[in-house]
Amino acid sequence: MPLGYLGRMKTWTWKGALALCLALVVSAQTSAKEGMWIPTLLKVVEGDMQAMGLKLTAEDIYNVNHSSLKDAGVHFNGGCSAEMVSAEGLLLTNHHCGYGQIQQHSSVDNDLLTDGFWAMTRAEELPNPDLTCTFIDRIEDVTERLLAVCEGFEGDDREARWDEEVAAIVKEATEGQGLEGEVVEFDCGNSHFLITSKVFRDVRLVGAPPSAVGKFGGDTDNWVWPRHTGDFSVFRIYADRDNKPAEFASDNVPYAPEHHFPVDVSGVQDGDFTMVFGFPGRTEQYLTSDAVEHVIERLNPMRIAMRDEGLAVINAARASSDALRIAYAAKQSSVANAWKKWKGQNRGLTELHAIDKKHTLEAELNKVSGSQVVEDIAALNAQYFPFLEARSLFIELAYYGPEVLNYAHGFSALIEGKAEDEARESLLARLRVAEDGFRRDYDAGVDRRLLGRLVEEYLEWVPTNLAPDGLAAEVTGAGGGLAWADKVFAKSVFDDADDMAKLLENDNPKSWKKLAKDPAYVWIEKLRANYFAEVAPEYGRLRGEIATASAAYTQALREAFPERVFPVDANSTLRLTYGKVEGSAPYDGMQYNPLSTARGILQKYVPGDPDFDMPARLVELLEAEEYGDYANEEGDLVVCFTGSNHTTGGNSGSPALNDMGHLVGINFDRSWESTMSDILFDGSRCRNIMVDIRYVLWVMDVYAGAGHLVEEMTLVQGR
Ligand code: ASP
Repeated sequence: MPLGYLGRMKTWTWKGALALCLALVVSAQTSAKEGMWIPTLLKVVEGDMQAMGLKLTAEDIYNVNHSSLKDAGVHFNGGCSAEMVSAEGLLLTNHHCGYGQIQQHSSVDNDLLTDGFWAMTRAEELPNPDLTCTFIDRIEDVTERLLAVCEGFEGDDREARWDEEVAAIVKEATEGQGLEGEVVEFDCGNSHFLITSKVFRDVRLVGAPPSAVGKFGGDTDNWVWPRHTGDFSVFRIYADRDNKPAEFASDNVPYAPEHHFPVDVSGVQDGDFTMVFGFPGRTEQYLTSDAVEHVIERLNPMRIAMRDEGLAVINAARASSDALRIAYAAKQSSVANAWKKWKGQNRGLTELHAIDKKHTLEAELNKVSGSQVVEDIAALNAQYFPFLEARSLFIELAYYGPEVLNYAHGFSALIEGKAEDEARESLLARLRVAEDGFRRDYDAGVDRRLLGRLVEEYLEWVPTNLAPDGLAAEVTGAGGGLAWADKVFAKSVFDDADDMAKLLENDNPKSWKKLAKDPAYVWIEKLRANYFAEVAPEYGRLRGEIATASAAYTQALREAFPERVFPVDANSTLRLTYGKVEGSAPYDGMQYNPLSTARGILQKYVPGDPDFDMPARLVELLEAEEYGDYANEEGDLVVCFTGSNHTTGGNSGSPALNDMGHLVGINFDRSWESTMSDILFDGSRCRNIMVDIRYVLWVMDVYAGAGHLVEEMTLVQGR
């Protein structure tokens, strides 16, 4: 790594970069705006947003001295976004974000997934252990402070000084204030922000539409426009009597947020200003041409192939019984979601000639600045790709496939005889709780087939020198993945509820010790040992070097082309993105309208089809056009709309706001032609998909008879 990068990074600051960005942002032509803006830096785009219709200022959106829109935004369980819609803690997010909780409260006899759920009183709201809701308190750039104190330090000393200062920054900002805090790296390490937050842990399920609404269209329609999915669910945050975060307690009270979004029931129209304010997960817009090629040629195909195998098993099982349909609901959704996205991503990257575009940019950079950074990244990438592949395959096998492996790993301290006295008691208590949770959604036959099919696919793709010793030989020797999995399961106790109950009850050190030879345990330990010893260290080292070089790359781009915008990648922190209610014309002869209506739900209705069936009452109401107060001027009930806001995973559940900062919808997806936007954003075709708030209210009020929830909101008519 040429030292020049580090030297230059130290002199680079946000202020400089923003000045570079400013000129183009203001003069950009299309309404589709690439970029997920850091809330403290909105001044840069305030003028542009106002020119597009925003009636607020940057301070109305983010302010630490008085309440602002940010106080109604929520990071939902660390992976999704959500928003406050009442003074009494009522929160909206997506159905697919609350899906795990809805599943947890479902059984064959009380199937909330199929029938939906509505708490008609506060007492009926359902607690959700482990669910968290996080509010951002403050975001502050601490890059200069960190660089200043580390001046003159090198290597490990520098790292230690850095960590010490980070700890001091967090302590100063949070101590005694009921806040949590962290310093987060942005922009490949070009900058670092302190983020303080309040984390609530008593969050109760208030309402969920039936899956025939919340997941209408299923995998068929996922990542597709036109869309007719009512992808929302309703929760309530509870606090202690001082309105502070608290663990679940029956006498906790509804949280009074500093701000909740007024809900605009006058609806949206083509061309309206919109912004989406949430927690986008991860984008990779600065991958170089070789890395994009690797995504298209290797990474996506191997991940898709692994999930093809998993989905074949899970889908067949779910179709075979109601119990399995419920047990594997959330798992199916999480496996299928990225699987379909990767397919669309490959198609989009290819159609947009992403590799050529990257080559062109890299050649331009080289011409203007003579920078060699792309060559340096390519040299690192050549070493890095096998480790990235091995890591991705390990994740697919260990976390998105059979569950018995990880479950067995949970017992390692007992099996290795490493859990002593008190620690042992609390570990056993946790394992007994985990056993109940695990068994609830577990089927040994499904898991066995998952292990068999995934292990075979894993061995197809994993770089041979990075596979665990002996695995390929054992699988081949057994006669293939399924036969091998049969053997593992025949000899393992972890798949058996009775065996495990006895072991946990008796807690006999000798019995635990014997499990060291249990094949499920043996193989997860070998896989993990291989991953942590052979893959993770090199993966981490190379990734760190690539990040440093990528920081230099983005910096070089900004310096070489001051008239262009090079936005900061998403990193699961609060961001604002803005655009318009807007359709698209992704292919020749094809024009997407930005609004879909209830008429389309009936057009898609196919009785008996798991993706497109509907409860009779829903069909009747829609056929009778009983739209209550929620129809638009043309008499239609708008269901979803698209916008030109730059979003990604994690933006699921984000508030879609109008020019006044009022809630007009909930973001939940992107169109099929947008799935490559995490790597290459194209303003002419990238569209996010939002469920119209009027449809959300119609489902609650007219369909479910839960009008009391609508009454709790602050309804406004902006038009
Ligand atoms: N539906 C998406 C998700 O799974 C949202 C998106 O990526 O746009 O997170």
